[in-house]
Amino acid sequence: MSTDKSKEEFLKEISDLNQKIQQLETDLSNIREKADISNRLKSMFLANISHEIRTPMNGIIGMYNVLKQTELTDEQREYLDIINLSGNNLLTIIDDILDLAKIESGQLELEHNNFSLENELNHVINLLKDKAKGKGIELFSKIQPEIPDLLIGDPIRLKQIIINLANNAIKYTKEGSVTIEIELLNIKNNSVELKFSIIDTGIGISPEDEEKLFKAFSQIDSSTTRKYGGTGLGLAISKHLSSLMNGNIGVDSVVGKGSTFWFTAHLEVDSTIDTPSEIKLIKEQKEQLSILLVEDNLLNQKFASATLRKEGYNIDIAKNGKIALEKYKNNYYDLILMDIQMPVMDGIEATKEIRAIEEKNNVNDRIKIIAITAYVMEKDRKMCLAAGMDEYLAKPFKPKELLDLIDFVM
Ligand code: ADP
Repeated sequence: MSTDKSKEEFLKEISDLNQKIQQLETDLSNIREKADISNRLKSMFLANISHEIRTPMNGIIGMYNVLKQTELTDEQREYLDIINLSGNNLLTIIDDILDLAKIESGQLELEHNNFSLENELNHVINLLKDKAKGKGIELFSKIQPEIPDLLIGDPIRLKQIIINLANNAIKYTKEGSVTIEIELLNIKNNSVELKFSIIDTGIGISPEDEEKLFKAFSQIDSSTTRKYGGTGLGLAISKHLSSLMNGNIGVDSVVGKGSTFWFTAHLEVDSTIDTPSEIKLIKEQKEQLSILLVEDNLLNQKFASATLRKEGYNIDIAKNGKIALEKYKNNYYDLILMDIQMPVMDGIEATKEIRAIEEKNNVNDRIKIIAITAYVMEKDRKMCLAAGMDEYLAKPFKPKELLDLIDFVM
């Protein structure tokens, strides 16, 4: 009898213990959920205030560009260049943090645009060539000829990964070369799987250190950070971006010999245009453009118009949407650069009015409208596109970014 009782007790103890384990598991999962939620809230908060963080930078970098065009002594020019360099460095860090916040709060969506792979790679090479040359490093690029040139995907995010990896390659290489190589892994129906390799002859990474890569805020050691600078966010962002393109990312490296950072991406093949030469032809036929700049901020007006006039474009300025609408009705323009937030009539409303006028008059060749705004969230982009704008440029922008975008839409 007594053994039976102790067996009963024993069983009860087991069942109590089981219950306790279950309770602990539930508690743990609640805690994890709360931590996840608060992490997501933090990221959402950051992504949502991105406008507020970037706007003051707009003033700093914009003012640099205006000031640079005035008469200055060599000493002043030198100080100004330091302001510009620091401003751009800070903007890169801000953009990295905001990108990560957008990714973590699930707010980063990829675009679905047509692009030429060769053009985009040329952009990247153009952007990096001075930096490589400055360090005496050779920069090469290779595209496997079997790859279709016209693709559909998010060229900006694709370039962001390549630029990230190539910037690192240049940063961590003292002598030799950096090669950007694109290979075809797979082609099926209307899609390709591509492998992008960024090959350097730099310091290399040990196998233990390789494990730490691709995690946010992770740098191999603090002495590397002191020597080379950086936030340790680039690879984490690149990893997320490549996985959004249904790809992977990785590295093969030998200490002292160099590293090959690679990633893969799935992209659609654009079969609507037959030959790349068609695009080039349209670009070459581009003539002198008349541009209407709609912007209420005097500083931004000066910066943008100086940039555009230097390029030889004809510029007219309107300081709000209402004036822009009047000017549009009475003059011919090839392109409108439209600020969003303006008094009297904002850019969204002005664009809707212009599109309505075009529709009423059966205009086939709609005027190109580029939104220029400090709002950088995907929903803002969508709002601009939904209002009838063709493209979108986030402030603060560099002169080259504006000119490239104009080239792209025209
Ligand atoms: P950051 O370069 O801003 O520090 P990343 O996420 O881009 O951040 O890189 C993380 C770390 O990986 C770097 O701090 C560096 O130690 C290492 N690393 C990245 N690319 C290379 C490379 N090409 N060669 C050697 N080390 C690299």
